[in-house]
Amino acid sequence: MALTGSCLCGAVQYELTQRPVWSHNCHCSRCRKASGTAFASNLVFKIDALQYSRGKEHLRSFKPHDAE
Ligand SMILES: [Zn+2]
Repeated sequence: MALTGSCLCGAVQYELTQRPVWSHNCHCSRCRKASGTAFASNLVFKIDALQYSRGKEHLRSFKPHDAE
């Protein structure tokens, strides 16, 4: 099983090579804002399941001020 995906512009592409360890629909304010809907469906994978096939150099990270 492999899932593939990308960011919205396609600059970053990835492949997930294992099954998710957890999934849920989150109704928090950040997920509602990011998805523009009442909830976001989230999948959680082990980090070694993730392989970038393109654009890893474009990745940035941030931590919201209210994140734990
Ligand atoms: Zn959320």
